[in-house]
Amino acid sequence: MIDLSCTSKKALITGGGRGIGREIALRLAAAGCDVGVSDIDLASAESVAAEIKALGRESLALKADVSSAAEVAAMFGTFIAAFQKIDILVNNAGITRDTLLMRMKEVDWDLVLGVNLKSAFLCCREAARPMLRASAGKIINIASVVGINGNPGQANYSASKAGLIGLTKTLSKEFGSRGVTVNAVAPGFIQTAMTDKLSESDRAKYTQNVSLGRMGTPLDVANAVLFLASSLADYITGQVIVVDGGLVM
Ligand code: NAP
Repeated sequence: MIDLSCTSKKALITGGGRGIGREIALRLAAAGCDVGVSDIDLASAESVAAEIKALGRESLALKADVSSAAEVAAMFGTFIAAFQKIDILVNNAGITRDTLLMRMKEVDWDLVLGVNLKSAFLCCREAARPMLRASAGKIINIASVVGINGNPGQANYSASKAGLIGLTKTLSKEFGSRGVTVNAVAPGFIQTAMTDKLSESDRAKYTQNVSLGRMGTPLDVANAVLFLASSLADYITGQVIVVDGGLVM
């Protein structure tokens, strides 16, 4: 049996109420972590926390809009009060407001950059002190292949994800000497509510370019996150792992 060294590690997942975040929360719990499930929607976070408790791990549902500094500070306060430390932070919360640049409203630029990128800055800033003090920690940012390749209609979203990759690399350099790793996972085309919004023809168009010939599942992404959160990835930092079935290479 491979020892992932996750038992009793304390993990916090943002946007953990559904989709990829929910699967990450459940995967880390199955590997032995106690998990704080944060979401803007408390009911969905509570439902995932109940699933984790049923697996025999501790869990805490936290309501926070992660684009708000005050709400992120309160979320970390509650998490640390309950678990005393933070070993793993997964910045997963994300939204889209897609349209071509000429039609893109400033409010939708600000919203997407706030939820997808500023949130990670705020959460990393809160996690930094306890992790650096402990000389240990794993931060995983959920980016996207469009942050690497771009995508028409997603100027705000792809800029936020490219920004996350820059943040990941910079923090890996700032925190590396203290044993804290910072990596990103860049999913491709994954079956969740986010992609359910696409038309059948768009879905078929994207899938056509996937070498493995199918959309990814939240579990495909959660497995990469578990790897980065585990001791198997102790010597990996500042990297972007693409999980896209061969869409971008
Ligand atoms: P999803 O199903 O829409 O789930 C996103 C979660 O984030 C939801 O639970 C949502 O809450 C929560 N959330 C939204 N705004 C928030 C805020 N301000 N504060 C806290 N939580 C908030 O999306 P997903 O497909 O699982 O995506 C998860 C991550 O993977 C995102 O960062 C996304 O960009 C990235 N990603 C997804 C794909 C894909 O194909 N699905 C591809 C590449 C990258 P509500 O339910 O209340 O809205």
